Amino acid sequence: MDERSTAGGEPVSEFELACAACGGQLSRTTVSGVSLGVGVERELVLAECADCGERYFPRETLEELA
Ligand SMILES: [Zn+2]
Repeated sequence: MDERSTAGGEPVSEFELACAACGGQLSRTTVSGVSLGVGVERELVLAECADCGERYFPRETLEELA
């Protein structure tokens, strides 16, 4: 399933962006909210850099925490 095949003016996914710290490829991962200290216990979707390990919260995750 290619997510971009349904793109009709859809914004680019966070997972297709480069790492802001090193320019590396971001990949989708899940981390428990407990280990992140964000006040929830369920698994949260993050974009993680394969090169430096920097983590980014995709918009869908930020909205979940809002
Ligand atoms: Zn990086």
